[in-house]
Amino acid sequence: MPHDGHDHDDDHDHDHHNRPPSDTALRVKAIESLLTEKGLIVPEALDLIVQTYESKVGPRNGAKVVAKAWTDPAYRKRLLENSTAAIAELGYSGVQGEDMVVVENTPKVHNMVVCTLCSCYPWPTLGLPPVWYKSAPYRSRAVIDPRGVLEEFGVEVSASTEVRVWDSNAELRYMVLPMRPAGTEHLNEEQLAELVTRDSMIGVGQPRVPIGSAP
Ligand code: FE
Repeated sequence: MPHDGHDHDDDHDHDHHNRPPSDTALRVKAIESLLTEKGLIVPEALDLIVQTYESKVGPRNGAKVVAKAWTDPAYRKRLLENSTAAIAELGYSGVQGEDMVVVENTPKVHNMVVCTLCSCYPWPTLGLPPVWYKSAPYRSRAVIDPRGVLEEFGVEVSASTEVRVWDSNAELRYMVLPMRPAGTEHLNEEQLAELVTRDSMIGVGQPRVPIGSAP
């Protein structure tokens, strides 16, 4: 990632989460230290698990939502009108996904999501937020210079396309419905889901182009 992805360790829960600040985080760290000290775990193994949830397990749920919206116009409509309920139809609901808003990319509008205050993120559909999402540079620059950030992520957005930045918070979690790639008419829902990347649902990436189709 061309991002200044230092984890500044500042993604503390703050007041808008209505929870005692970072009590859980402290406990987790304490347990991790203790288990490492006793030789019961290696921190690298934990990192690997976290990474798996960040980039594999979690975002596959969101990808299924996107693929369904691409293939089922009635579902797409429900998804945009009442995102939480439409996502729950597929069985994805719960903590950090209670109030979802799905925003749709079109040739005229490109959406991207940030949490400027910390790391609010839709867990049921995307899993755990990646480190760069929680980083201070992303959180501030996504708002100040969204086009610059998109460029660093390798996303080309034409000058005539409006870039909208959505600030997730404790009340609302945003997810992007990316545009279905051209040349995918022959693909079924499952194959389409394979094309949906985590970053495309945050708005800092595009879906993959299917193998064998022209770039
Ligand atoms: Fe937050």
